[in-house]
Formats: sequence, structure tokens, C-alpha cells
Amino acid sequence: MIGIITSGRPVSRRLAAQKRLAVAAILVAVLAIAGAGRADQPFAPSRDYDLEHSTIRLAFDAEQRKVIGDVAHRIAMLRDGADRVTFDSVGLRMESVTLDGAPARYELTPGQLSVQIPAPARRGDVHTVEIRYDGSPRQGLFFILPDKNYPDRPRQIWTQGEAEDTRYYLPTYDYPNDRLTTDTYLTVPATWETISNGRLESKTRAPDGQVVWHWVQDAPLSTYLITVVAGEFDRAEDTWRSIPLSYYTPRGRGNRIPVTFENTRAMLDFFSTTFGVPYPWPKYSQVMVDEFTEDGMENTSATTLSTRALVNPATAAEHPLREDDLIAHEMAHQWFGDLVTCKDWTNLWLNEGFATVAEYIWEEHEYGRDEADYTRWNEARDWLAQERMYSVPVVYSKFTDSMEYAPNIYTKAGLVLYSLRNELGAAEFNAGLKHYLEKYRGRNVVTGDLLNALDEATSRNLDQFFQQWIYGAGAPSLGIRYTYDESAQRVRLEVNQNQKIEGAVGLFTIPTEVEITTSSGSRRFPIVVSKPAETFTFPADGPPLLVLFDPGDTFLDAVRFEKTPREWIYQLRHAATVPDRADAAAVLGDLTGHDAVVAALVESSHADPFWGVRVQALDSLVKLGGMRARDAMFAALDDPDPRTQATAAALLGVFVHDAQTAARLEAVVRGGKTYRQREAALISLGRIRSPNAYPVLLEAMRTESPDDGLRRSALIGFGELADPRSVPVVLEWAAPGKPLATRAAAIRALGSLDTRNGETTRRLVSYLDERISPIRRAALSALEERDDASAIPSLEAVLNRGDLSEPVEASVRSVVAHLRKSGGSSGASGAAPGRND
Ligand SMILES: [Zn+2]
Repeated sequence: MIGIITSGRPVSRRLAAQKRLAVAAILVAVLAIAGAGRADQPFAPSRDYDLEHSTIRLAFDAEQRKVIGDVAHRIAMLRDGADRVTFDSVGLRMESVTLDGAPARYELTPGQLSVQIPAPARRGDVHTVEIRYDGSPRQGLFFILPDKNYPDRPRQIWTQGEAEDTRYYLPTYDYPNDRLTTDTYLTVPATWETISNGRLESKTRAPDGQVVWHWVQDAPLSTYLITVVAGEFDRAEDTWRSIPLSYYTPRGRGNRIPVTFENTRAMLDFFSTTFGVPYPWPKYSQVMVDEFTEDGMENTSATTLSTRALVNPATAAEHPLREDDLIAHEMAHQWFGDLVTCKDWTNLWLNEGFATVAEYIWEEHEYGRDEADYTRWNEARDWLAQERMYSVPVVYSKFTDSMEYAPNIYTKAGLVLYSLRNELGAAEFNAGLKHYLEKYRGRNVVTGDLLNALDEATSRNLDQFFQQWIYGAGAPSLGIRYTYDESAQRVRLEVNQNQKIEGAVGLFTIPTEVEITTSSGSRRFPIVVSKPAETFTFPADGPPLLVLFDPGDTFLDAVRFEKTPREWIYQLRHAATVPDRADAAAVLGDLTGHDAVVAALVESSHADPFWGVRVQALDSLVKLGGMRARDAMFAALDDPDPRTQATAAALLGVFVHDAQTAARLEAVVRGGKTYRQREAALISLGRIRSPNAYPVLLEAMRTESPDDGLRRSALIGFGELADPRSVPVVLEWAAPGKPLATRAAAIRALGSLDTRNGETTRRLVSYLDERISPIRRAALSALEERDDASAIPSLEAVLNRGDLSEPVEASVRSVVAHLRKSGGSSGASGAAPGRND
């Protein structure tokens, strides 16, 4: 699964990553509140029975947001003496429960359905429990419906089971450590599509004119991977090695399917070869749905994705990697997660680490080493910036929500697996994966199973590797310096492990290399770092021009390498790999007062062969400031890569009140190279408070563009500018009936506009009544930012109605708490008319 809430397209991967972190921080705050009600279990429960097969029949009363279900479970008892069997079930109303065809006694608690067995069970007894029920799920199953403001919205019903939410729409055994096969019958209107796990067995017409779709999943899966999607969709079809492929978007957006999914077949080839096991399911569907709670979810043979990831053909060229990372991630899960599944959430990294490393190796294969290296470089920096992750191992059980330490189980685990691949070599690494997948195919695993499989396949004992990176916490924090002994012609390299050895953080043993460059060329020397402090010596036929530790940043660490500005500049200009040049660019951004540093960064910002290093040079120049930095941004507006171009326009947003910057940004808005660059320029124009910003943004509001990108960015720009003249147009676009993504941008802008107007606050509260998640999120964000305490009673009234889903309810509570704390210091009763940063 990838769970992210982002709107709009990132200017660069780095900025995207920062945005993700900001969102993650908000989610953690929200979860802390929601955690009181429920928690994901870190360890698998002991089982009384094996759920072998479920026949699931679902129909829907869409207008009432109601599911009507009938599920027959075939179970085999696993222990003698049990007098009842329990199923997880939340908020569902039982119509009838039978055991082997006879009415059964049962008890219903808020979390479980417990069914009595007349005679004490004997191991091996097989029973069929059939449950008829209905309910209006708060989560797990979602209805996206037209309403009076949006009468043409395509109807969509979709589920999201992970982590423990299948129980909200299906009474079942809801933990990964059991696997079952399924027959799924979905009764829907004749014009609808349905998608579920496995192959489509039949479509038959019901007496009432509806159609019953029968899906058969005959290889076992865990219940969190069950999926049901139904509604009004466009569909496209294809085949790969005689396996049917299908792609769906909500009706009306089918033209985006080809460009979004163009690499699907190549990815299936690549992963089948790399993992050594061909794609293991009878079909592969990728289904885009609106308002999805995640970015993607790897349901077995039928991945669900958010429509936020749909690529618009009109702007596809501006996004060189399209949404390949997401598509590769969910596809890789079809092996790692679905074919072989973690036994419990404590071992969730066995799903997510592999899905993440699969993104890197697909990027490397399709887009080249530099792209993949730059992605890893950024992700490592993101992870290191999150101090909360450092003391917690990848395998960790003390959480309340399985996503609480997501950066460890996704980013760190992905980077560690990449290091392992680097250490073993791709061929041995792949051989290990093949053995692991074959040995545990159709089973549930813990970390030790992977460790043993790798050992069996490669004869490499990886106990220490796993101990330090997976069972242990943190990463090495290295202090490095060197001296050159002219007379002996030797380099003495001192390496200190400076991380605090405490808790789960220990010393690391790291096999790596040192590269020494002198005027006669470069040489590499293998070393193993393992002690708190050690010194290595190497021959060098002259004073080094450059010394690199771990060239290419092959493992996760934080390094402070003492080098002179001159050496860093040499590294920026001459290092062979993207991570080494990007490291140099980043370090140079902290070296103020050196003319040569600025000159080198300016040169790198246009001369480096890789776009991401050029971005990094621009980023550092912004920190050093001054007109030379600004002029480098101006030059980069014409960079050959759309990502660097757009970053330059975004970074110009720091040159507040600068007339020349304003003039250049206005020119980009009107005639920029790409939409994404024009969009970034609109936001920057608001940010720099250009006197002319208001009319330019207003003009952009009248300009049509793909997905309303210019209008949305102009609205964000209005929020930054906080010019009261923009209030009428922002209110107009915040109103019900406007395109949803554009409207959400307008609503967010109201966080900093018209903040003393209680009527606008009331209007924002009223938007919470619409059951549209991006609108609710935008309204909550604006209400929080406005600091208008007059919203509190209305928000409390919304809470008291009790009809919100748990995450929305938690967000409303968090906004109320914020408003109470800030005491309405500004806004309706306060003095500040807007922002003044
Ligand atoms: Zn995932």
C-alpha cells in the first residue's frame, strides 16, 4: 500500500518528498487521537479454525450507502474443545446466522460475531457458517456518489481492507495469518462494471434486471487483500503472455489509460525475470477510483489506485517518470505481499520494503542509474531528517497503527534491501528472491524466513546484516577526515562511528570502498568499517584531489566528511556518480562567504549533466542568496529538463518584492515552457508579493488549461498573496458545483484570506456536510489556519451528529483542539488581517 495525500503534481521529487513528510506528520497527530478507538494488532492471534473458503454475495443500496451481504465461510477446526468460532465484524447488523444449515446461536459485540458450536469441536471438523447481514460501513467500503452539486459524478463503490478494515463490510477472520479462497458474487445495475479478485467466471442477469458478476479467486489470499469495486467505469483491455490485463477509470476519463499504464507490460516482463517467478495470478487489473484513501493498494490480482495518479496526455511529457513508481510499487506487491504475505504487521516491511526497492530497480532499468540513484539519495535524506524513526527498528511491535513507523518499513527497508543487492550483486540477490518466493509461495512469513531463504540460496550468512539494519535501529553516523603524508605517499583516513550506542542502536559493520583521485587518476580500495574509531591507510602517488568514502552512497548513513571548500568544489565538478555530486552540492549550500563556492554552484546549476544535481545546486544557491543565485534561477528557467525548469520557477518564490523576479515570473506565467513551470510561477508570484501579482493571477483564473492546473495554482497564489481584492473570485471558485480539485485549492486559499469574516468561516463549516473527502480536508485545513474560534460551536455540532468516518471525525477534533489552544488570537475577533510572513 502507499498511503499519501497529495494534491497537484510535485515540482521535483525532493519537494514531493517533503510534502509527503508534512502530510505524514499531520497523519500521526490525527492517528494519536483516533488510536483511542482502535489499534492494529502487532502480533497474529492464535487461530481456532482455518478459514478455507468464503462465498461472498454483496448487493448495494447506493443511495443509502448500504451493503447487503451474505457470506458462507467453510472452516476447519484447528483445536479440540472449542465451543464457539468468532469472526471480526464492526458495525454490521446480523439478519441470520446458520451453522451447517441450521440456525445458530450467536453473540454480537462491538468488534466480533461469536457463533456457538453445539458439540465441542474436534480438530479437523469442517463447518459452514453462513451469515446474512447488512450495514452502512464507516470505513472499509466507500460510496462515491453524485449529489445535487455534482449530478454527473460517476458512481463508485470501492473497498480498502488494509490494515484491519475488511471487517467493516464483511464479517470474517481479519488478520493476515490465514489464507482463503473466495467466490465473490456482486449484484449491480446492468450498466456498471465490477472488479474483484481472481478470474471472472460469469455474468448473469438477475430477475430484477441487475447483473450478477461471479469472480473466482482459487489461490489463497489473506483477507486484507480482498477487493470489491463496482460502478460506472471506462475499461481498456490488453494481454500479457496470455494473461488478461485490464485498466479502469471512472467513466469519462478513459482517454488517460494508455499514457498512464503504458509500461505495465514491460514491468510485468521485468519483474517476472528479476524475481525469477512469473507473475503469479490469472489476471491483472488496475483500477483508478476517486477519493481513494491511499495512493495505491495491492489487492490480489486487482490493484486499486487513486485517480490522483492519472496522467493527463496533454501534460505527460512534463512528467518524465509518469506515475511509474506507484505502478511498479503495487505491481511488485503482487509477489511480495500477495504471493508471500507478512504473518503480522510487525513484519510488514517484508511487504513494503520489497515494493519500495522494486521502485528503485524499475527506475534503474527503465530510466537509468542516475534517476534511481537520485531517488535513493533523496529518500535517504528524508529518512535521516525524521528523528522519530531513528531509535526504532524496522521489525517493531510497539505501535498502535501499523503505519506509525511507515518511513522505517518503506524507505529504510527499501534502502537496506538496495544495499543488500549492492553487496551480494544483482544475480545473487535475485537468486535469493526467487528461492524465497518459491519456498514460501502461498504462505505467511516472518523476517527469519527471508533470512534463511537468502542463506539457502546464496550460502551467505546475513545474520549480522539483518541484526544491524532490520532488528537493530538507526544508521551509522560517520565522522571522517584524512591526511596525506607526502614523504610516505600515503593517505591516512580516520573513520569514527559517532552514533550514540544505546537501545537498539549499535555499532555497524560496513563493507565499502574508498576512492582516491590524484592528478594521475582514480583508484578504489575495499575496506570494512566496524569499530568506533579506526584508521585506514592507502597508497597515493600525489596529494589527493578527491577522496570519496562509499562512492555512489550505497548504504544508508549520515556522514560528516571534513573537506576544504576546494575539495567539495572538485567533487561537485568531477565525481562520477549523482549521489556524490548531489552530496557536494548540498554541503556547499552551507558554506557561506566563499565566492568560489557560489561560482561552482552556478556552474553546476547549468552544466551538470543530470537534472537532479542541477536542482540541488539551485537549492543550495537559494540558501546562499544574493543576485547571483537569482540570476542562476533565471537561467534555469530555460533548463532542458521540465523538472529543473519548474523548480527554478518555484525557488524564485523566495525573492520577495524583487521587481526583476516579478517580471521574469510574469513572463513564465504567460509563455512558460510547460504547464508545470507556469503553475509554479503563479504560486511564486503570490509568494513574492509582486505589486502586479493580483492582475496576473486574475488573468490566469480566466485561462483554460489541462486539469485546471493554471487556475488551481492561481488560487494557491492568491492564498500566498493574501490580497483582499481576490476574495470574491476565491469565494466563487470555493462554491459547490465547481470542479472538485479547483474548488479544494480555492477553499485552502481561504485559510489566509478574508479571515475576519465570520460568514466565510460559517461557509467553510457548511462544506463539511458534503461527503466529498478532498473538500472536507480542504475546509478543515482552512479552518485550522484561519484561527477563527467562532467556528468551534459549529464544528462541535458537526461532531455531535456522529455520522463522520473515524479519520474525518479525528481531523475535526484536532481542528477544534487547535482553535481552543490558539484561542482565536486572530481571525474574526482578532487583529491580523492575513498573513505577514
Ligand atoms: Zn505498499
